[in-house]
Amino acid sequence: MTILAVSISAESVEKAQEQIDRSVCQGAEAIELRLDFLENPEEAAAANLVKYVKAKGLPVIATCRHISEGGSADWPTEKRLKVLTAAMEAGADFIDWEFAQYLQPGVQEMLTAALRRFRTCRLILSAHDFHGPFEDLSARYEAMRTLCPEAVVKLVYTAGHINDCFEAMDLLYQEKEDLIVFAMGPAGMITRILAKKLGGFLTFACPEEAAAAAPGQIPVRKMKTLYRWDALNRQTELYGIIGNPVGHSLSPAVYNGCFDAQGRNALHLPLEVGGGQAEFNLFLQSVLQRPWLDFRGFGVTLPHKSSALEFVHQEGGYLEPLAERIGAANTVKIGHNGQVSAYNTDCVGALNALTETLGVERKELRNQEAAVIGAGGAARAVIVGLMDAGCRVTVYNRTLEKAQSLAEEFGCRAAPLEEIRSCRARIFINCTSLGMAPNTDSTPVPAEVFGPNSVAFDTVYVPLETRFLREAKAAGARVVSGAEMFIRQAVVQYRHLTGVEPDELLLRRIVMEKLK
Ligand code: NAP
Repeated sequence: MTILAVSISAESVEKAQEQIDRSVCQGAEAIELRLDFLENPEEAAAANLVKYVKAKGLPVIATCRHISEGGSADWPTEKRLKVLTAAMEAGADFIDWEFAQYLQPGVQEMLTAALRRFRTCRLILSAHDFHGPFEDLSARYEAMRTLCPEAVVKLVYTAGHINDCFEAMDLLYQEKEDLIVFAMGPAGMITRILAKKLGGFLTFACPEEAAAAAPGQIPVRKMKTLYRWDALNRQTELYGIIGNPVGHSLSPAVYNGCFDAQGRNALHLPLEVGGGQAEFNLFLQSVLQRPWLDFRGFGVTLPHKSSALEFVHQEGGYLEPLAERIGAANTVKIGHNGQVSAYNTDCVGALNALTETLGVERKELRNQEAAVIGAGGAARAVIVGLMDAGCRVTVYNRTLEKAQSLAEEFGCRAAPLEEIRSCRARIFINCTSLGMAPNTDSTPVPAEVFGPNSVAFDTVYVPLETRFLREAKAAGARVVSGAEMFIRQAVVQYRHLTGVEPDELLLRRIVMEKLK
């Protein structure tokens, strides 16, 4: 069973105790005491903290990290050994010592003698690379295991890209001995969470975001709630949202909330994939080569929606005709034997949001004048939906050529953004990112375009009420928020990816709670 250990890196015993208390309340399964962070790590402080944790019934890992591998100061080897010995005397279950320092003259003998005295304490032999992946992860693992077969080997490197995560996961999957391996940094985040699915010995979390002892550590509360730590096991199916950035995405909260409610053994992850088509392809190919990861599908967002369509095309998978027409897929499903298929749920999400919020049938949109502002991915999905419903569409865009090229492709009209002032459309749909947090003061159209007969629909959903919608409402227009589109596209996407209906009311509640 993988242990969720919380790293405590406070500068005083009192602050460390506060962090320990909070971590225990939030579900820590073990505590790592980063004694190197204490203002002056000494034996009495180490013993005090170990006993404090043991009194709460949790295992303790005592670490006094060398500065070359992320330690907070250049504490002499002798001092570090004394502090760790005091921790062992006080009942520490594990001490962590760096492989490179273990090889220094005399250290191995001293540590072996100390560990012989405290037989219930086990060595975690660690190696860290803060610059990038190790040159040869497997060879390093073999060398460490051979030198100290009774130790828990711990290998930690920095991921510069999510594609650097796979070798850590491969080693965890293949190795049956007690092993800790993960990637640091935001790009390595999934290796910390998936340690449990892949049978890692333990993973590290932080008490809260501001108190992370290493880059990329996730707060313990988030591990337990958002990332469903207690529900994870080897059979857990994986889903995710691929984009760059994805930190703001509502999808993990929405999916994981629905998985909880349905008692489904599944987890949804934010998957930040930097770069373009090549990096996107490499990520998906790496996933497909590892069926044991049990990835079942993805939502896809900016900037990868056209890459998603192209990938599935290259793989010879199924392309939903609507996604092909739009030229973008926001949903990629992995079926039996790694068969991939691509869908677009933005289009139906947008059209359903418009008709259901207005309480009209699609056919009532026929011959309505609609102004689509923007000519990116969201605009493509919205234009196809409106054209199919029989609207007369004009695309207004800052870069006129892009609007013209869409007009040619879909058979609508194009105009420069400035002409929106004289636009006489009834329906206005903002498909630019203007107004999105943190730039909530911007809007793509002047307030005077709206009147009591107008309908204003903003695809932006953070904030819930944008300036575009506020000004339209003030003019007496009817408004449709981006959240309505998000919720409806999410319902269809959930159905595509999991094969079952989500609880729409629950999904809506999660979205609204997050946005408020
Ligand atoms: P995109 O492909 O990058 O397109 C962005 C569009 O915004 C382009 O037309 C761009 O004009 C325009 N734009 C950007 N900055 C501008 C500025 N300062 N002034 C004038 N125009 C500007 O993005 P996208 O994928 O279409 O996404 C657009 C919005 O839709 C985002 O806010 C996204 O969150 C939202 N969205 C919502 C949902 C939902 O479910 N509610 C789903 C998908 C997308 P140029 O061509 O001149 O650069």
